[in-house]
Amino acid sequence: MSWFGWRWVVRLVDVVLPPCCLWCQCGLPHRSGKKFCSACWAELAQEVPSKCLWCDAPLVQKPSSARCASCQSWPRWLGPVVSLGPYQGALRRAVLRGKTVHGEALVAGLGQELGQEVQRRGLAPAELVVSVPLHWKRRLLRQTNPAATLALHVAQVLRLPCRRLIRRTRATQSQGGLSAWARWRNVHRAFAPWSKVDLRGKTVLLVDDILTTGATASQAAGVLRHLGAGQVLVAVVARATPPAVRKTSAPAAPTRFPHPQPSQELLNGVRK
Ligand SMILES: [Zn+2]
Ligand SMILES: [Zn+2]
Repeated sequence: MSWFGWRWVVRLVDVVLPPCCLWCQCGLPHRSGKKFCSACWAELAQEVPSKCLWCDAPLVQKPSSARCASCQSWPRWLGPVVSLGPYQGALRRAVLRGKTVHGEALVAGLGQELGQEVQRRGLAPAELVVSVPLHWKRRLLRQTNPAATLALHVAQVLRLPCRRLIRRTRATQSQGGLSAWARWRNVHRAFAPWSKVDLRGKTVLLVDDILTTGATASQAAGVLRHLGAGQVLVAVVARATPPAVRKTSAPAAPTRFPHPQPSQELLNGVRK
């Protein structure tokens, strides 16, 4: 069918199935390309008075340097982080709904918005998009994989390939409710390459639904780094305040669980 023909098909679908806001279900203008009405979007993507210039964490005070206390211990090749807003209010409820089987369309809409936000921030151009993987047992249990759906839609907006390059080697405990220290311990060496692939010098965009201490992103990014990636950018729907930042200004990353170093152990974990 010609381009002119497809335009008519799109118009017809718009008339039969008018677009509606994915949060409040109100009608949206035809062919606006929007997934959320302006009132809902203002509620979801809340502005914060101050945030870290590197990891996007909401801060109580204006950042005194480019990196806040929680991301100072991250390796140089991890970040910067792009998020749609802080993990609170409507965005928190949206992330939680996205973890259920009924939240697939919502996650797809958030993924498109996240892709546009990455474009708006003008990050160093990534060459491929990768999602933080779920363990197969949890994927079966939930019957949905929000990080993978997000990555797919982010990649579509950015017109980049979306690849499955990492796997979880074990079913880790949910990070929710754990202390910063326990989060790092929980995901330590929980990822391995899915296949042998040469990412030498490539910039990869790692996508997940939420980022708190950076423990999960750091461990998953360590695998990409091990495969040769030069820089691992991170895009998440919501940025939670790291527990250590809420209480004190001490770094959140514990010293006994440093960022993954290249090891033969990782390569041995590659699926044959
Ligand atoms: Zn709405
Ligand atoms: Zn930071």
